[in-house]
This record gives sequence, structure tokens and C-alpha cells, in this order.
Amino acid sequence: MVGNGGGAAPILVSGGGIGGLVAAYALARQGFPVRVFEQSPEFREVGAGIQLGPNVFRELEKIGLKDAVLADAHRPPAQEMRDALTGNLITQVPLGPAFFERFGQPYAVTHRADIHGTFLKACQDSKLITLETSRRVDGFEDHGDHVSVTLENGERVDGRALIGCDGMWSTIRERIVGDGKPRVSGHIAYRAVLKRADVPDDLWRPDVVLWAGPRTHFVHYPLRRGELYNLVAVFHSDRYEEGWNAEGSKDLLWQHFKGQRPEVLRMLERIETWRMWVLCDREPVKNWSKGRVTLLGDAAHPMLQYLAQGACMATEDAVVLADKVAASPDDLPAAFKAYEQERYLRTGRVQIMARVYGDFYHARGVTAELRDLALANRPPQQAYEGIAWLYGGP
Ligand SMILES: Cc1cc2nc3c(=O)[nH]c(=O)nc-3n(C[C@H](O)[C@H](O)[C@H](O)COP(=O)(O)OP(=O)(O)OC[C@H]3O[C@@H](n4cnc5c(N)ncnc54)[C@H](O)[C@@H]3O)c2cc1C
Repeated sequence: MVGNGGGAAPILVSGGGIGGLVAAYALARQGFPVRVFEQSPEFREVGAGIQLGPNVFRELEKIGLKDAVLADAHRPPAQEMRDALTGNLITQVPLGPAFFERFGQPYAVTHRADIHGTFLKACQDSKLITLETSRRVDGFEDHGDHVSVTLENGERVDGRALIGCDGMWSTIRERIVGDGKPRVSGHIAYRAVLKRADVPDDLWRPDVVLWAGPRTHFVHYPLRRGELYNLVAVFHSDRYEEGWNAEGSKDLLWQHFKGQRPEVLRMLERIETWRMWVLCDREPVKNWSKGRVTLLGDAAHPMLQYLAQGACMATEDAVVLADKVAASPDDLPAAFKAYEQERYLRTGRVQIMARVYGDFYHARGVTAELRDLALANRPPQQAYEGIAWLYGGP
């Protein structure tokens, strides 16, 4: 039995993705023992890139991991949006000194395995964190003064509280929020990573480049200090209901991108194997904490990736959660409610705005013309102020 407050009973974390590991680390830094249960046989991230806005570096700095994350990352000089049919530049946002001056933090892109690996090493180096693989959490009970989780093999583990970091298809969420399956957006993402040597010199760009097409977009940027190149192709299709990380059909991709600029098609041609994601999200909610159980990251607020913020939001969650727990260690239900209260409007706004950005990227006809007009000749300062609600911090 675990008493309220004191004692060394661990906080239990279900899921060892980016959210689960950074939550474990942030809590351990505040002196709390943590046990992380990951269903997979190893702690691992998919081979793909991830963009990191300045808001995440502000949080990483607080927990001492900013430099380690930046060490493997690439710092793009600019974000650029081009018309995938004409090749015209729609807008360009510099990410160099003026950006840094505005937000006090950099913009970077990195390999998921690199940032996840940094969090994993930080957890492995902590004496307060126990990392357990091939341990799927199937259920839990909140006993008022402690929680217990049931693992796949029937084993029961007691803890002081439970944090569901089990992603988009969270089983913990089903019990806490109970809002069924995620919403299938009808958007499909194909992702691949190339070696630098496999990218033709005339196509390699140091920037984050987004080619906006009718009901499609294609993004590319360098990874791992420029040694790799990340490609993401997104298109609309009702063909798939749900799924995660399956091999993608090349024919389907070509159907959606045919007629686009040679720069796009030549790059798409380089890829042998694509991994496919059926993109889903949910409506924002604010009841993701109940008693000694709470949710974090995609389990709490899954979003489309159009603002490139899911992992950033999970990291912000983790730092806020650890602060609330530290401020109220003897009343974790109150700490979890305070965490939810501080987070739900911000994360909900990102969930909603991500959909709007997706519509913007995939616009057709007059809507696309209006988008281009709105963005044409926009000075960088105006672009910065437009996104300051997000990049300016939690
Ligand atoms: C195409 C695409 C591009 C993206 N680009 C960006 C970007 O540029 N920037 C950004 O910030 N975000 C981006 N995201 C979002 C980001 O990937 C997610 O928001 C983030 O990975 C969520 O982390 P998480 O830890 O909450 O969930 P997950 O990464 O899903 O991790 C959940 C973990 O829990 C484990 N698990 C699940 N169920 C159980 C269980 N019952 N018991 C134990 N373990 C369990 C899983 O195996 C997994 O390891 C993108 C997403 C997509 C699809």
C-alpha cells in the first residue's frame, strides 16, 4: 500500500515513446521514482524526421537536455513553401538570427531515433527510473491512495499514480475519457529517409521545403547534421480506415503526385520503400485526468502533424506535469488536474490549428490563389508574430 505523499513508491508510466521517456525524466529530475512500461521488445522510434519549434527548446533547456538534442540536429536556415504545380515561391520564413532573436530559441530538425535516443540515455542514466520492455499495460485500478496496473501477462504492479503515454490508440484514455477511436482524417503520409549521397546535388536544400499541391503536399529537409535527408509526402485518400506504419504502395503515391514539378517527382523517384501512416486526430477535451491517473502527449491530445508539434506538445506536457507534481506531491489528483488545466487550451488550439494548416497546404483553385496572395510579400516579422502564440511558449 502506498500512502499519500511520502514513500518511495514509483509513478507508473505506460508507454516509452518520446512522451513517456521525457515525462519519466522530468519527474525523476524532481526526485520521483518512475517505472516505464513499454509494450515493444525495445525502446525505439520509427526512422523518420521530426521538426522542433523553439517552444520545445525552452522546455528542454529547463530539464537540461537542450544541448544533447541539438548536438545531432540540423538547423535549417529557412522554411520555404512552393507551389508544387508552378514551382513558384509562395513564402519564405528565415529561421536564422532574426528568428532566434524573436523567440530566444532555435528551430531544428532531427531524426526521431536521435531525440528518442537522447531521452532514453537520460532515463538510463537516472537511478530513479526503471525501464521495462515487452510489458504491455492492459488495465488499471485507482484505489484512491494508490494505483495498480495489470500487465499483459496478468502481473499486477502497484504505484503512486499512472501516466498514460500510450499514444494515439491509448488504452488508458479509453477508461479516462472514453471517446472511442481517433478520427480518421482521410490524409495519408508516406515517409522515407535517404542518405545524403543518394540525393542529387541540385535537389539537396538545407531548408525545410514544403511543396503545396492540390490535396497533397511534400516536405523535405536534412537530418542528423546533414548526413540524411527526410521526405514526407501527404495526400488525401479515403482508401484506408486506420493503420500505422505499414509499407506504402508506390502506385498510389504516383496517382496523387503526377503532374507536379520535376523537383518533386525526381525526389519521389529516389525512394525504394515508403512507410505509410493513416493520419488521425481527435477533438480537444479537458477531462484527461481522473484521480491518480492522467494522460500525456498523443494519448491526451492527438493532432495532425501540420504544425509539426505533437512531440513538442508531449515535451511541454512533461515539464509542466513534473512541475505540478513537485508543487503538490502529497495530492497527486490535484497536481494532475492543475496540469490538465494549464495544458488543455494550448494543446486544443494546436489540434484545431493543425487542421486549418492542413487545409491551407492542400488548397486548390481559388482557395490556393487566396492563400498565395495572403502570404506573398509577407515580411518575416509578420510571419513570426502570426505563430508567436505557439512558438512563444506554453
Ligand atoms: C507524419 C508525421 C509527422 C510528424 N511530425 C512531427 C514533427 O515534425 N514535430 C513534432 O513535434 N511532432 C510530429 N509528429 C507527431 C509526433 O510523432 C507524435 O505526437 C509523438 O510521437 C507522440 O509521442 P507519444 O509518446 O505521445 O506517443 P507515441 O510516440 O505513439 O508513443 C507511445 C508509446 O506507447 C507504447 N504503448 C502503446 N500502448 C501501450 C500499452 N498498452 N502498454 C505499454 N506501452 C504501450 C507504444 O509502443 C509507443 O512506444 C508527427 C507525426 C506524424 C504521424
